[in-house]
Amino acid sequence: MENLKFLYDFCNSKFFNDELPKSIIPEYSSRLTSSAGICKKTIKKGNLKTKVKISTHYLKKYPDELMSILLHEMIHVKHPYDGHQRKFISEMYRINKLLESINSSTKLSVHSKENALNNYGFKCPNHGIIAYKPRKPRVSYLCNKCRSPVEVVEI
Ligand SMILES: [Zn+2]
Ligand SMILES: [Zn+2]
Repeated sequence: MENLKFLYDFCNSKFFNDELPKSIIPEYSSRLTSSAGICKKTIKKGNLKTKVKISTHYLKKYPDELMSILLHEMIHVKHPYDGHQRKFISEMYRINKLLESINSSTKLSVHSKENALNNYGFKCPNHGIIAYKPRKPRVSYLCNKCRSPVEVVEI
């Protein structure tokens, strides 16, 4: 497996101008089964501590996505209180542009993590995939934005 700290430092200098804390040491986790990666923040003695973990289960399924998962989590490191809101999205576009400019096949997305371990999705005709499920849902469902019946699709 790739050395995550090495990759983190590489991405930090290549995509973030070395602005992210160098003290962060990302780890692989075999206990992380519900998402591809997490960026966990805790306050210790008044200081914000950040942990980045990458799921080994996800990587087994999508080995080529290591860099995009790590970069996704690194955006959370940069904007700890934004979730997947405006700051996250604009940062994601910025990095995707950079990746494109170097002809990289890596592309970041907001929902890669949900896709990974959930094999089914609810697809709204107007809003696309609106939810992910690990098992095939048995109930029918309406989109909560437009009330259209959604289709269950395999991802
Ligand atoms: Zn995220
Ligand atoms: Zn909808």
